[in-house]
Amino acid sequence: MAIPISPEFVEKYNQPGPRYTSYPTVPAWTEPFGETEYRIALEELADRPGDELALYLHLPFCAKHCLYCGCNALVTRETDAVDRYLDLVEKEIGMVTGIIGTGRHVVQMHWGGGTPNYLKEPQLERALNLFRTAFDIRPGAEVSLEIDPRIGSPEQAAYLHSLGFNRISLGVQDFEPRVQEAIGRMQSREKTLRVYQGCRDAGFEGVNIDLVYGLPGQTAESFTETLGEIIGLAPDRVACFSYAHVPWVRPEQEKIDTSQMLVGYEKFKLFQLTVDSFTAADYCWIGIDHFAKREDELSHALDQRALHRNFMGYATKPAPHMLAFGMSGIGDVCDRFAQNDPDLQNWSRAVAEGRLPIVKGHRLNDDDRLRRLVILNIMCNLELPWSLTEKEFGAPANELLADSLAALPPLVADGLAEVDDHGLRITPKGRYFVRNVAMIMDAYLSKGKGRPIFSKTV
Ligand code: SF4
Repeated sequence: MAIPISPEFVEKYNQPGPRYTSYPTVPAWTEPFGETEYRIALEELADRPGDELALYLHLPFCAKHCLYCGCNALVTRETDAVDRYLDLVEKEIGMVTGIIGTGRHVVQMHWGGGTPNYLKEPQLERALNLFRTAFDIRPGAEVSLEIDPRIGSPEQAAYLHSLGFNRISLGVQDFEPRVQEAIGRMQSREKTLRVYQGCRDAGFEGVNIDLVYGLPGQTAESFTETLGEIIGLAPDRVACFSYAHVPWVRPEQEKIDTSQMLVGYEKFKLFQLTVDSFTAADYCWIGIDHFAKREDELSHALDQRALHRNFMGYATKPAPHMLAFGMSGIGDVCDRFAQNDPDLQNWSRAVAEGRLPIVKGHRLNDDDRLRRLVILNIMCNLELPWSLTEKEFGAPANELLADSLAALPPLVADGLAEVDDHGLRITPKGRYFVRNVAMIMDAYLSKGKGRPIFSKTV
């Protein structure tokens, strides 16, 4: 049953704001940070040989560009472009393991893009073997990738599973042809269903589906149909992302007809519809925009207040460090964030010349680490027990963050959060505005840095 929330209320809280896959967020990384700083982080990691790792590989290739795309994607028909890219990934892995050593334990690996299943079978096997040779991917590790069903097949799904992938995410966005046309991504329902069934038959532990709300041409009626069909498939997890229309960052989005887009309150209602549909079908609402079957480990982690969040999304197997490979990949090593060059030529040149291809990054100070702990706990576990910070920072959060918490009373008065002697909790109404609550803890937003480039919170 939808919680009544008025258009005025939505308008009040529909502000530009981060999604907090990291804190500080990328726009706040303004200090000089490059190869030298990343090398120091890797050397520290080398001194902590027992620490487990997560790995991310960015595979940017796509068959065709979708207008709404917010990813770092490259359209290519050159058959050897992928091989050249993998040559460089091999070299990049070699540079990193040259510092941290080979055989480090890995508990999570994810391939994103782009379209990882754009790779041919020998390329997929080669890419996986690059990591298997350099790292020790532990039994029980989560090994996942994103696929585009349009270029997938049941045979490919079976092959990916045989290689060792145990989780797979299918990009669907919306089944409605009118919407698909408006975003330049025609994707037949039949093909998607065939690939989905292929993933199920292959025996993946987790088969996930990605949707997007707020796309041009979507209506409450059409999206209700898509949601109903997705629920009928019973995926283990669903991510329903808000379409971020940011043509100043993604110029291809200029071609989108914004007159067909639901915005503000109407867009918010699409998301409310999504929440109501999945929760009525006994899915747990995870974080801001994910849904998981009740028996899924993400749901158990939420129950136990043990959910984590990193650049790859919500996680149950947190590793203290994440190494990223490929153009634009963002890693998190020994309290430093480091981003690879998002430009293919620049990334390629750096790696070919034997340089770590870092363009920006950030070394977290104590205040950053404190606020990261607090913000990610709110984003994941929907609460901030004051005691959360005691062990690591020596005092309760309400003392350490008294300045930021001074901005909380209006949000409490509006029913987004409750506060007592033990801490802060997000209310059912506040679930829709978690980012707004987290934002009061963000020291960089309050300094006015970064805000203009974020999408809106609804
Ligand atoms: S939406 Fe996916 S398939 Fe489309 S261009 Fe972006 S990364 Fe490629």
